[in-house]
Amino acid sequence: KVKALFERYLSPHLLEEEPFPVPAMDFKTTADLPVASRLIDQVVGQDEAVAIIRLAARQKRSVLLIGEPGTGKSMLGQAMAELLPASNLEDIIVEARGKANNMPKVRVLSAGHGEAVVRQREREFRTNVSSLRWILGFAGAVTLIVGAFYAYTRENPVYIMGSLILTVMIVWFAKSLKAKPSEQIPNYLVNNSGKVKAPFIDATGLHAGALLGDVRHDPYQSGGLESKPHHLVEPGAIHLAHKGVLFIDEVAMLSLESQQALLTAFQEKKLAITGRSPGSSGTMVRTEPVPSDFVMVIAGNVPDVDKIHPALRSRIRGYGYEVYMNETMSDTEENRYKLALFVAQEIRRDGKIPHFTREAVEAVIECARRIAECPDRLSTRFRELGGRIRSAGDLAVQSGAALVLAEHVKRAGHFSRSIEEQRVWRERNGLKPLLRQPSPGKIKVLSNYKETAGQIIQIWTAVVPAAEVEIRVPQMESGEWNVLPIEAALNRYCLSGRYYFETEGAAAGERTEDFTLAMALSALSAKHGVFIPEDIAVCGSLNVAGMVGECAFFGRKMLTAKHGGIRTILAPLANKHIEVPPTIHVVWVQSLDEAWNAVQLLTRTKLERDSFSFEELLK
Ligand code: ADP
Repeated sequence: KVKALFERYLSPHLLEEEPFPVPAMDFKTTADLPVASRLIDQVVGQDEAVAIIRLAARQKRSVLLIGEPGTGKSMLGQAMAELLPASNLEDIIVEARGKANNMPKVRVLSAGHGEAVVRQREREFRTNVSSLRWILGFAGAVTLIVGAFYAYTRENPVYIMGSLILTVMIVWFAKSLKAKPSEQIPNYLVNNSGKVKAPFIDATGLHAGALLGDVRHDPYQSGGLESKPHHLVEPGAIHLAHKGVLFIDEVAMLSLESQQALLTAFQEKKLAITGRSPGSSGTMVRTEPVPSDFVMVIAGNVPDVDKIHPALRSRIRGYGYEVYMNETMSDTEENRYKLALFVAQEIRRDGKIPHFTREAVEAVIECARRIAECPDRLSTRFRELGGRIRSAGDLAVQSGAALVLAEHVKRAGHFSRSIEEQRVWRERNGLKPLLRQPSPGKIKVLSNYKETAGQIIQIWTAVVPAAEVEIRVPQMESGEWNVLPIEAALNRYCLSGRYYFETEGAAAGERTEDFTLAMALSALSAKHGVFIPEDIAVCGSLNVAGMVGECAFFGRKMLTAKHGGIRTILAPLANKHIEVPPTIHVVWVQSLDEAWNAVQLLTRTKLERDSFSFEELLK
């Protein structure tokens, strides 16, 4: 039954053909839920990526996975390694090559045989040395006996002294024989003996040497103390991933040269190893080409796509697949059940927390709903959810509970806040002293701090007379201000003047489209001399036609507003489906005209209801 269940969940094409009843959420605790043994069967909410990974593993294609962090990219890479056959794994050894000292020989053997060869050589060498030692020992003994015989017959002690010195020299020589035992013995580069899974090598952020192989520096390059070059050869991640998966996360961190070399190794399926640190004796050594027949799973965020070497990208597009990971999944009974399976998986993986009750699982599902910030969707940012599950488990352990309850999940929210959230909440955005000094042109805007926390930013505008509309904004460290919607709006209202904008509390690299509506309102308030109440904040973006667009991370912004003492918010109507804390009044607006009228009314109206549309406000 369990097998049938997983088959249904994890092969989308099968899903369309045979409808299968969704199991009811009637379990008592997560202990009653099955946990799949294979990683690919544990991936939730990424049906398309799973189907492509299955296909790519069968056909040995490379895959580019792009999406938000924590959606399962490295999990899919590992799952792919599990799907690759382990039967054709190989061992790679490198050994000395007669006179051409600096070109070690590379041998490829089927898995397990490399180890056998090395063992055999070790054994042979040991036998050679020990038999030589026996012979030398015997010669020493004979020398001593002959010396003693001559000393006795000739009655001259010089003979015994001479033979004694000779014997000591022979023994010393025999002992020194083990000084260089390893020269004849090959060096492993890749040892796959006894492996039952294809290798999964994570090459994230590796420097060129670790990625492509290196030859170590030999401090004693002569005088009999030097090492044989083949003992200094180190395999790179591309060689360790031979017949398996090479996983590279945050591909943008890899230099373009490394990406180029990676592409060469990938195309040729082999790459010679040479010393890569300038000035090292290793640079003189170059092995024969070492096999590197791997499949690549490259992961990254959307901005990383532009930083991938064009040749590497085109190779993947031509000979592999690109997948954009899901950030949400629909809020169906089936997906809720899958989330319950995910909770059971995380408990098993963590191993330190007790099982969850069904109510606690429902609370996790509620978190997924809230993180998604989209109607009828559940979040698939599983790392964030996993963090919440572990914090809830830790709280249950601390309170001595045998099971994790819904209350633990709710309390865990406080402990699993990000640094940014904690900072912003603790400082209340540093705007406190300003709350007491209203002035025209001053308005608060709800923005985002590094996509993990909301923050409140103060916008100021000063206006001086001018013949036309002119806009001056402060210099940004990265990115640019989008001032066109504000210019368009001011021209539409025929409000010429030179407008100076300033923000307070804004971090560098802020998303300035978050500010456009607030900037326009701030400019209008400065021009008309209208004081905007201090407990009002604005969110949403404006376009050149004066329409207000949806605002991202609305739920988080609401929590920040609540914490920052904001009572009323002007928000885009498009965000109306998202839950708002009960202490906050929201006026939903669709255009700048509505927003500006609402601001003017709000300066006079005492709000009594939690949430109303612009028409209701007019009434
Ligand atoms: P990414 O590489 O996308 O940043 P990871 O694969 O490292 O994310 O995910 C981190 C952890 O979150 C995984 O080890 C797993 O426990 C959980 N996880 C992430 N995505 C999924 C998923 N789609 N299904 C089940 N668990 C997941």
